[in-house]
Amino acid sequence: MRTDNAAYVARDLAHVWHPCTQMKDHEHVPLIPIRRGEGAWLEDFEGKRYLDAISSWWVNLFGHANPRINAAVRAQLERLEQVILAGFTHEPVIRLSEALTAVAPAGLTRCFYADNGSSAVEVAVKMSFHYWRNVGRGEKRRFITLSNSYHGETLGALAVGNVELYKDIYRPLLMDVITVPSPDCYERDNGESWAEHTRRKFAHMEAALERHAHESAAVILEPLVQCAGGMRMYDPVYLTLLRAACDRHQVHLIADEIAVGFGRTGTMFACEQAGIRPDLMCLSKGLTAGYLPLSAVLTTEPVYAAFYDEYVKLNAFLHSHSFTGNPLACSAALACLEIFRSDEVLERNRALSARLGERARTLQDHPHVAEVRQRGMIVAAELVRDKAARQPYPWQERRGLAIYRHALARGVLLRPVGNVVYFMPPYVVTPQEIDLMVEVAREGIELATCA
Ligand SMILES: *Cc1c(COP(=O)(O)O)cnc(C)c1O
Repeated sequence: MRTDNAAYVARDLAHVWHPCTQMKDHEHVPLIPIRRGEGAWLEDFEGKRYLDAISSWWVNLFGHANPRINAAVRAQLERLEQVILAGFTHEPVIRLSEALTAVAPAGLTRCFYADNGSSAVEVAVKMSFHYWRNVGRGEKRRFITLSNSYHGETLGALAVGNVELYKDIYRPLLMDVITVPSPDCYERDNGESWAEHTRRKFAHMEAALERHAHESAAVILEPLVQCAGGMRMYDPVYLTLLRAACDRHQVHLIADEIAVGFGRTGTMFACEQAGIRPDLMCLSKGLTAGYLPLSAVLTTEPVYAAFYDEYVKLNAFLHSHSFTGNPLACSAALACLEIFRSDEVLERNRALSARLGERARTLQDHPHVAEVRQRGMIVAAELVRDKAARQPYPWQERRGLAIYRHALARGVLLRPVGNVVYFMPPYVVTPQEIDLMVEVAREGIELATCA
């Protein structure tokens, strides 16, 4: 049997339907079969290596095949692989809940588990609505969301998100939400600071709350960075203002930290930069250091208490997934949190993010780069046709795809979102690897914008 790349690709394309992919693209865009990973690198079946500059879709934190996480999962595998979490419990889920509530913003003391990010968003949306119903406010059933936001692909998560590319076709299936203009600082006026722009944009949220709070359960947003929306960023003051407004208007604040949690923005959770505690916080992706599917919704005692009652009152949260709180996934998450603690990861990331920012900012001079922006370990460069007018390239031209292909040929996995090239590397990346990914991005941008 052949074991080269082409042999695996042929077998794959005979049966596998890939996510977020026009499968016909694979007639000319190569599919890359990976046989192993180590640290920040992936290796295909012909021995070619790729630097994983996007942490395998933003999930990986401490490298592939990390020996410490491997050991933790292996040890758990010898004891218990899975057990029902209703009526039963296990040590990894108990320890993980203790550990998460210890690192989360104070007051988030209750953990509800699911097995992927979208499901966590579904849980948060249902839990918020159900809370208001249980406290006699069943009319509060709408959700307020930001333009350009992303919260996942299942129908509820898709409904509260706002990336048209993913949402538009399914609109007839989706609940109606209240969408408020994003504080996205790419849109700030000339000379306006991030904080000024962000504050100015908050007026839209304030107006929406004035008008809709009586019928709204929650505001849901991605704190500080709208990742799938093109790594668009805003100032923490938005979260401070939103926390106060949600309290004033009696509406929950749901923080979707699925992408930005676990150190991505420089702090353990992005909400910390505004010193706020959301009412519900969704976690996934980096939760298991990118090892296994797991998600959690953390919430407060008051929310928990609204469901705690005699069975016959039918106030319980009757939501479950088969693999809720899977022990193997919990053991990976525990090993991940242990690495954060013992290796002072947030501290060490400061030097890495400084290096990444400093290198990436050299892309700013390119005639087709409108902006290079950064929040911690997320750095993005926005490509435009016309820099002065900030006129975007038409999406049909797929400039990002040209960069993706160039980077692959050079042994780097970059996967631009539309016209935004970004770096979101695992935290085990070295300064030399950072230089390489930026250099390859520069070449790719040059190639993709020359004609
Ligand atoms: C990835 C993501 C999700 C969805 O998580 P899945 O595990 O892909 O379902 C939700 N919200 C945000 C902010 C994300 O980045």
